[in-house]
Formats: sequence, structure tokens, C-alpha cells
Amino acid sequence: MKTINTSELAEGIKRGDRVSLSRAITLAESARSDHQLQAQELIQELLPLTGKSKRIAITGVPGVGKSTFIESFGELLTKKGLKVAVLAIDPSSTLSGGSILGDKTRMEDLARNPNAYIRPSATGGYLGGIASRTYESMLLCEAAGFDLILIETVGVGQSEVLVNDMTDLFLFLQIPGGGDELQGIKRGIMEMSDLIFINKIDSFGVTKAKEVRVTFARSMQFLPQKDSGWKRKVVMGSGYTGEGLDEIWEKVTEYFEAIDTNGYLTKRREEQNTVRVKDYIREQLDRKAMDLYKTKSFSEAEIATRNPYFLAMEWIKENF
Ligand code: GDP
Repeated sequence: MKTINTSELAEGIKRGDRVSLSRAITLAESARSDHQLQAQELIQELLPLTGKSKRIAITGVPGVGKSTFIESFGELLTKKGLKVAVLAIDPSSTLSGGSILGDKTRMEDLARNPNAYIRPSATGGYLGGIASRTYESMLLCEAAGFDLILIETVGVGQSEVLVNDMTDLFLFLQIPGGGDELQGIKRGIMEMSDLIFINKIDSFGVTKAKEVRVTFARSMQFLPQKDSGWKRKVVMGSGYTGEGLDEIWEKVTEYFEAIDTNGYLTKRREEQNTVRVKDYIREQLDRKAMDLYKTKSFSEAEIATRNPYFLAMEWIKENF
């Protein structure tokens, strides 16, 4: 990366210039600590311009139709004059270097839309680090004037908790299957959800659709109430045909009005900040400790014969 002039970047972002936005996000994703520091200074400068967007998590298992949905939903929103940014959290990229979300070219039409911005998942580092990077990207997009930030995750468990900690509304995409709608991970994700979109109704008949709606409504009665006071809603539709997307937008608007009025949004944003502060502490301590460990580690003999826990405690006592 060339030398970076952060005030130029800040000016560019304030103008809504996407090249500046992309460069700033790359800076924030860099592992170099000087880049990290510059990114934080930039974010600090832009902070007054952040926090005004609707932060929305979108999840669902691979194949449920997330990218098709986001593409259609994104087009609908931009037609309403809104600016939409799409970010992704993909835990597979930390494990394998590859990714579930990123391999194929996704959302090509939306990517060309001047009022949309799509940024593929940050890669490298551990999952917690990816959450912080996504959060920073979100702030930068907000400063660039995006009204909605859609954060997409793959719906396999761990990444949903992270994304739930940085968004205001959780949208879960589902397709009917097997009668076991509330098993395991799915139940956990259902609990986090504010809106559930039953997708691909174009591919099954009206009778099946009605059946599915009843099953979902019934199962949701047994989920604990949300702290926001909001009652989870089920919408049926299709990312393909666009059916149900207006209704989803209506519910999103209704939700934000409700949590704005009852004060939950303010509380939620404070909670999001608290989670981030703790995450940064964890991240920085981990980084510092591992740097130090490179210079002061144990001998092979010690490692081979001593209890790892006691070795670690000894090391901490000596160095902290
Ligand atoms: P993702 O992995 O969750 O992002 O899912 P994709 O959006 O890539 O969609 C997976 C597959 O389902 C693709 O073959 C899509 O063409 C198909 N698909 C997506 N949305 C719909 C829909 O609303 N109706 C039908 N019938 N198929 C869909």
C-alpha cells in the first residue's frame, strides 16, 4: 500500500467517494499496526458521521438464497432512494483461507448499482478479529452516507453471535424442510431473529406455504421474548420474484420506529459499543502477548514435562 494521507481519505469518504471508502477499509483490514493506528485515527475523525444507518444482519444456510435476496432487496431499496452497503462475515475464510460466501461472483447487478456498495468478507486472522474489521468497515460505510448496512453471514452458528452483537435487526432466511424447523443451531438463530423470511415460495404451492407459516408461527410462541419488546414476524416470499420484499421493508421500518420510540435502539447501540471495547481489549492483549511470546518462550524440555496451564500462569506472572 502506498503512503496514506488519512485526511484526504476522510474528505473522500465524506463526499461518498467509493475509491476512498475501499482504500480506508483495506487500511482497517491491514495486519500492520501502523495501518491499524491510521485507520483508527480516520474512524475517530469520521465518528460524528457514523451511527445513523440501520444495521441489519442477514443470515441463512448456504443455498437458502441470501445473495439472490440481497440483490433484489438492495435494488428495491436503492429505487426508494436509499444507499445500501453489503458486508459479509464468513468464518470459513479464517479456517481454510477459502470461503463459503466469497468463491462465486455474487450480486453482480447490485455491485454495479451506484447507490450500492458490496464488500466481500475480510479474511485472515481469527473470527473475533474479523468482527472488529467488519465493524470498522460498517462505520466507514456510515460515514460515506449509506442508509442501510446489510451484514451477511453464512448461518452455521458462530458468526451469527458476532453479527448479532453489531447490528440492530436480525433477519433470518429460511426454506421449509423436514418438519424439524427448530433443531439445534436453528433454534439459537431463531431466538436472535427479529424477522424471519420464508424464501423460495415460488417453488412450492400455496397449501405448503400456508402450512409452513402455521408451523413457524406455532414454534415461535415457545421462544423467549426479545429485550426490545418486539414480537418476531414471519414474512413469506421469494428473492427471485421479489414477492414479500416490500413487506419485509415495511416490517423493517416498523421495527426501527418501535425501537426508536421505546429507547431500545440507544441501549442497543451502547451494548454494541461495549462488546467492541471488550473485543479490542482481547484482540490487543492477544497480539501483545503473542509478540512477547516470540521473544520469551519456554524450552522444549519444559514444554514436554510441565503442565501447560502452570507454564502459562508462570509466564503471565513474570510478564504482566
Ligand atoms: P446463498 O448461498 O444463500 O447466497 O443462495 P443463492 O442466492 O446463491 O441461491 C442458491 C440457489 O437457490 C440458486 O440456485 C438460486 O438460483 C436459487 N434461489 C435463490 N432464491 C430463490 C427463490 O426465491 N426461488 C427459487 N425458486 N430459487 C431461488
